[in-house]
Amino acid sequence: MNGTDQTHHPDRVWSVAAHLDDILARIHPPAPVKRQLLDAQGCVLAEDLTVPLSLPPFDNSSMDGYAVRAADVAAATEAAPTALTVLGDVAAGSGALPTVGPGQAARIMTGAPVPPGADAVVPVEWTDGGSGRGPAATMRAHSAAPQDAAGEVRVHHPATAGAHIRRAGSDARAGEGALPAGTVLGPTQLGLLAALGLDAVTVHRRPRVVVLSTGSELVPPGEPLGPGQIHDSNSFQLTAAARAAGALTYRVGAVADDAEALRATLEDQYARADVLVTSGGVSVGAYDVVKETLTDLAAEHGQVEFRKLAMQPGKPQGFGLIGPDRIPLLALPGNPVSSYVSFELFVRPVIRTLMGHPEVHRRTVRARVTAPLGSSPAGKRQFLRGSYDPVAGTVAPVGGSGSHLIRAMARADALIVVPEDVTEVPADATVDVIPLGPC
Ligand code: AMP
Ligand code: MG
Repeated sequence: MNGTDQTHHPDRVWSVAAHLDDILARIHPPAPVKRQLLDAQGCVLAEDLTVPLSLPPFDNSSMDGYAVRAADVAAATEAAPTALTVLGDVAAGSGALPTVGPGQAARIMTGAPVPPGADAVVPVEWTDGGSGRGPAATMRAHSAAPQDAAGEVRVHHPATAGAHIRRAGSDARAGEGALPAGTVLGPTQLGLLAALGLDAVTVHRRPRVVVLSTGSELVPPGEPLGPGQIHDSNSFQLTAAARAAGALTYRVGAVADDAEALRATLEDQYARADVLVTSGGVSVGAYDVVKETLTDLAAEHGQVEFRKLAMQPGKPQGFGLIGPDRIPLLALPGNPVSSYVSFELFVRPVIRTLMGHPEVHRRTVRARVTAPLGSSPAGKRQFLRGSYDPVAGTVAPVGGSGSHLIRAMARADALIVVPEDVTEVPADATVDVIPLGPC
């Protein structure tokens, strides 16, 4: 420390890392909640889960066939099949089981408990299907109308002890770890929880992110443009990005550059938002009402600060906590490329932190640029759009550095990072790349 507090100095230029650290230090994940399985999809597990009951819970057959004593069929061959007396059927879900003695078998279905006495299952294909009927006919008869298979079966292939038996606990044993805290719950994890008999789990809530655009020039897509108007793309782009990051989202749409309208809209959203994201109105233009309005709102409750960042695009950024509940608010610049890059750098980590996600930051990889990058401003970290080829380890620049280049951004799948102290990047140089995948 040099004795002067630079943190809130109005002329301070913030680095990307310092701004992000400051934001993350001031947000707090809410307490975990208990959720029914399907309501927990996409959430992060907040508890270490132990296996309450072994999987499978009992020894069961992995085939349709006959439960036998392996010793009985040890000598069975095609030419000299072993004949066994069939005691009856054991279907999946059977409770009362016959005891298989020497010379005996029980017809058994996949998933059915292995009856006492039996130590192997002979697949139906290794038999005559029982009582002289072909195997296909036997199984068809069973599935159409269950009937007792008592009679005789000829086995023409030996089975070793344990063959085609799925042992109790062979998947997971009671008391072992099922899933650790921090696991993102997708379809297979939810399937496991259900298999373990759990109908609800403790998870981190997915944050509710409210997105609104500001600008009197903005018209919703689907409506014709008047003179000087453009379609509101940011609210769609940012809502989709928040959803892809794991948030529950509400797109409010565009609000005019009018302090009263903006204030009323923001206040309306307090009740439903865990995070507020605005775009536009944070630079120094005459109609940049976001700054003014947020500063007023913050004066009532909370605090909001507008900063200059050493980055391009995305120099002006606002961050604060507003409303009676001190909701984190990120005010992003309006240019579509700036707002998206700002989202990736600052909003996404907020969402991931609030949802308890183990991966807060996107990974950075190294790649070789296929063409020279245009000159980059000294002292600023530049984020260009690129097309990344992980197999070749290359990245091709897509479009220029203009922060209005929406089409180029839609064709890119990565950000190319040019550090603060680098002003020229020749072809074949190795650069940092942030791939922008769906997760
Ligand atoms: P601002 O930050 O409000 O000065 O806006 C900077 C530039 O981004 C202007 O050209 C705006 O028209 C444009 N812009 C602002 N908001 C949006 C939006 N929601 N969708 C598309 N372009 C926008
Ligand atoms: Mg504007």
